[in-house]
Amino acid sequence: MNTFPPCRPLRLSGLEPLVIDHRSLFVNIGERTNVTGSKAFARLILNGDYVRALEVARQQVENGAQLIDINMDEAMLDSRAAMVRFLNLLAAEPDIARVPLMLDSSKWEVIEAGLQCVQGKCIVNSISLKEGEGPFLEHARLLRRYGAAVVVMAFDERGQADTLARKIEICARSYRLLVDKVGFPPEDIVFDPNIFAIATGIEEHNNYAVDFIEATRWIRHNLPHAKVSGGVSNVSFSFRGNEPVREAIHTVFLYHAIRAGLNMAIVNAGQLGVYDELDPLLRERVEDVVLNRRPDATERLLEIAERYRGQGGGEARTEDLAWRSWPVAERLKHALVKGIDQYIVEDTEEARRQAERPLQVIEGPLMDGMNVVGDLFGEGKMFLPQVVKSARVMKKAVAHLVPYIEAEKDGVARSQGRIVMATVKGDVHDIGKNIVGVVLACNNFEVIDLGVMVPCEQILAAAREHQADLIGLSGLITPSLDEMVHVAKEMTRQGFDKPLLIGGATTSLAHTAVKIDPEYAQPVVYVKDASRAVGVAQQLVSDRRAEFTARIKTDYAEKRAQHLGRQRREVLRPLVEARANRASLDWAGYTPPKPSFLGVRVFTDYPLTELVERIDWTPFFATWELPGRFPRLLDDPKVGAEARRLYDDACAWLECLVAEGGLTARAVFGFFPANGVGDDIELYTDDSRSQVLMTLHHLRQQGERAPGKPHRCLADWVAPRDSGIPDYLGAFAVSAGFGLEQLVARAEAAHDDYQAILLKALADRLAEALAERLHERVRKEFWGYAADEALDNEALIDERYRGIRPAPGYPACPDHTEKRSLWRLLAVEERTGIRLTESCAMWPAAAVSGWYFAHPEARYFGLGRIGRDQVVDYARRKGMSVAEVERWLGPHLGYMPQG
Ligand code: SAH
Repeated sequence: MNTFPPCRPLRLSGLEPLVIDHRSLFVNIGERTNVTGSKAFARLILNGDYVRALEVARQQVENGAQLIDINMDEAMLDSRAAMVRFLNLLAAEPDIARVPLMLDSSKWEVIEAGLQCVQGKCIVNSISLKEGEGPFLEHARLLRRYGAAVVVMAFDERGQADTLARKIEICARSYRLLVDKVGFPPEDIVFDPNIFAIATGIEEHNNYAVDFIEATRWIRHNLPHAKVSGGVSNVSFSFRGNEPVREAIHTVFLYHAIRAGLNMAIVNAGQLGVYDELDPLLRERVEDVVLNRRPDATERLLEIAERYRGQGGGEARTEDLAWRSWPVAERLKHALVKGIDQYIVEDTEEARRQAERPLQVIEGPLMDGMNVVGDLFGEGKMFLPQVVKSARVMKKAVAHLVPYIEAEKDGVARSQGRIVMATVKGDVHDIGKNIVGVVLACNNFEVIDLGVMVPCEQILAAAREHQADLIGLSGLITPSLDEMVHVAKEMTRQGFDKPLLIGGATTSLAHTAVKIDPEYAQPVVYVKDASRAVGVAQQLVSDRRAEFTARIKTDYAEKRAQHLGRQRREVLRPLVEARANRASLDWAGYTPPKPSFLGVRVFTDYPLTELVERIDWTPFFATWELPGRFPRLLDDPKVGAEARRLYDDACAWLECLVAEGGLTARAVFGFFPANGVGDDIELYTDDSRSQVLMTLHHLRQQGERAPGKPHRCLADWVAPRDSGIPDYLGAFAVSAGFGLEQLVARAEAAHDDYQAILLKALADRLAEALAERLHERVRKEFWGYAADEALDNEALIDERYRGIRPAPGYPACPDHTEKRSLWRLLAVEERTGIRLTESCAMWPAAAVSGWYFAHPEARYFGLGRIGRDQVVDYARRKGMSVAEVERWLGPHLGYMPQG
């Protein structure tokens, strides 16, 4: 059908490519993300409501826009900042960012700022000869360097081209300059020969549409490979307020312009009609106007225009939302499986009106949908982040129904079973537990989550009150293990008979089998991760419970026997021997570096921007049970797609946190004169070292070591007191969790577990990133022993630097109570607000603390098991009872403590 000379393809891309050549069909460019063209969009941007502004972009893509035009030229706006912010947010939305962008501004600085944000290859709209050849050529050269295609307006030093002759003249001149002088690839040039309003009542305007159409034809035949575009809405400007007529004008205009060679145009993709389906009378009169076929064309259109006002225009047209026309039950299911919460309230309401009782909506379509989600997750066809998004849809639906259910006293939905869950007393971490809760809820369990730091009595009281079928305990730090044993004992004492589930980073099958299981005759089950929670819970509430329990009990008894056997066989060196085999370092040949200052410093609001690039993403994905190392896992054939979606959401949130400051990061750190004294480290009030400020206590390995390998203790990496060498030790505590509670509360109020969990995981990441960043600055700046260090983020994550920052509670120094010394030393709570719970967990939970060792040979190691001789010695040094030390070091004891 088309007879244009072949042209080289204009290749554009967002996340996906878009190739436009002479064989391509017309390409429509979304126009709604334009503050000058859309009042609604302008209002959103002026109000800073970027979330809804992004929705505008998303709708255009859903409506079929293949490119989107973005314009922030508004007097009241810092256009440049708005462009940057919007583009950065948009980049994190893969369903929008998949299409290429058209950066639209009359200000070069706005365009250039935008070019620095976009991924893929965009088109810049526009440059022209308005200010002469100099700026035109300069901008064109810069665009080449940015690799962008360009829209050239038919505009020169004398003004905008309004006639065919002027359009041809300017386009031809621009083309030659670009191709001959700049070497611009002609296929990357898109001309906009100006679409002006017609039917204005001014006679000179009557031929504007024809001139545009003819200019288009001329360009396509005479300027090889160049493309043509235009902004269509202008043409019907004089009929604003009468959408049906405007739409008809656009439809007719495009019909002819496309036949003349128009490659693309900026349009409202949701509002285009079909030429053949226009009302014949309207089409004829519109066509008279567009093609300037008779002098009275405008009057004749005005005559009938009023008849069409208020018709049509409203219905959603080309939107790819076929599922919206399905029966409501199917729509609910679809929304759940796909995690789309946009229509969930209206659909739930529709289902409620159709149902006899509101409860039936939950028990019918909603549960059906969640069952599909549960099955897909069980089969490994869906991943955690998707499940959590489905749960959010479910929650919103249920929240809508609850008032009706209550009003009817309809009773509570029938669930598979009810579980009371809590993070135990003294512990604060709950991301894993929240995920388990969501997954269980998706599988029709009723979840009563008591939160963090929940004392035993409260957990058991809640279990009784709610007649829970199951009780779940979670914990991250070692002292929580002991607390779980306590809960199990109490359940026995109080005559409970419900199963107990155990989970969380510190827990293990061995600990559950050895320590908790013997304390409670009913089932005690270790749940390794969220994906296993459902299976276990279902077995425990089913009629197979007895069978399942018997198997678990036998299994755990075996594990216990194995474990105790191993523990008994384990050979530990006597403490004196281990000490004699300490690492021998050449202190005479080593001068410890002196920090740039002694004492304590604080950052009360550490800039998050600096932290974002220091994030170690691998553990973030592990939290969501997406295994693999970042960034490779983004391309993993199995989990890559979901990982990317999650990553995009995370980056969008980070962007928002950085821009809006919802989270505050704080740090305190200090350096002190220090020397080793046996397995302890003495800190002094000043460099005269005459007065001890504090003594830190460390533990030494006692397990069998390979020949020539020392029995390690962290104190060995500080110069011994009797060497007379002045050495130093650093300490730090950081948190990025200030403000998190409010953000999470907001997400939870919106029934959005996905955001809530995402935010917590991000706060954790930012805290770790701050620990990394601060350590880097300590090495380069504050302690300054590695001023020339130049490592990228990956090298930092791999710890390819000099010095370590062991954290109390971790393998080299597993005694959490040493954090109390650290807190006193730096006055952490007073200076930053980070607190310690009775179990020495840090609060806010997104926190990291530890010691800085600068010795070049300092390495992380695991303490392993220790003997009773060391426990007794350590208790004496710390002024604690042996039983107390045994309680804190439970998993490290190489013997069975008495009592
Ligand atoms: N990039 C990781 C870093 C955290 S894990 C993240 O973002 O999650 C590494 C940290 O754990 C170390 O910096 C140290 O503070 C602590 N750590 C690791 N192994 C240790 C050990 N054996 N003893 C004491 N602390 C250790």
